[in-house]
Amino acid sequence: MIQDINKNYNLNYKYDTKPSSDDYVLCYSNKGFYLINNNVPKYKDIKSNNIIYGFMVDDIKYYICLDNITESHPINKYRELEKPLGFIIITGFHFYNFYLNNKYCGKCGNKLKFGTIERTMICECGNTIYPKISPAVIVGIINKDKILLTKYSVGYSKYALVAGFNEIGETLEDTVKREVYEEVGLHINNIRYYKSQPWGQSGSLLAGFFVDCVGDTNPKLLDGELKEATWFDRDMLNEIENDGISLTREMIAYFKENGDKF
Ligand SMILES: [Zn+2]
Repeated sequence: MIQDINKNYNLNYKYDTKPSSDDYVLCYSNKGFYLINNNVPKYKDIKSNNIIYGFMVDDIKYYICLDNITESHPINKYRELEKPLGFIIITGFHFYNFYLNNKYCGKCGNKLKFGTIERTMICECGNTIYPKISPAVIVGIINKDKILLTKYSVGYSKYALVAGFNEIGETLEDTVKREVYEEVGLHINNIRYYKSQPWGQSGSLLAGFFVDCVGDTNPKLLDGELKEATWFDRDMLNEIENDGISLTREMIAYFKENGDKF
């Protein structure tokens, strides 16, 4: 998956750390990112001081530029970059959006300041804003030797798994049951946690589960979010490659190899 970079991702917050000329600065617009010679620009390459420390990968520091930079690549292109660059770009985008969306206090309207101890934005009124991470589930629904693949009505056009955001007051298991019923009208049991994945593009944390379908196995597309839901035998999954990026593809590949032995 995109986060499996085989390097140490270190997000100790170092508010006072200032970039040296050869440190890297991740630059974004609200719809893309900026590279020079297919790599992240260095501090000496950019003309902004509106920068905050982001994170380290092994011993390399990455800062985030908070200006709106003209992008050289649309945001979706991070999927095509070599590891670990794709992870670095999309993780920095999550940081960028946190700062972009939290300039003023939602309680009193005053301008927010950077937290100096933790990665927060703070207000004189006492309000502290932490980075927003939205939990979501991805669900591999299994019926013996078949798995249910879906296609969205709009947007992402390839086969996917049932997925959705956790809502207030729900456990992740509640979210799994609700999303499965809302999207494909099926009942499930035996919820098994698989793995999780940070997904900076949507600012979410994805949790993957396998579940067993019980009762009626005919999917019903109830809420219109999907245009297709089809049971695939394991030997019908050959055309769906594990892209090494997404939890969804890894779960489909896992089922193809192992069936429901999880
Ligand atoms: Zn305030």
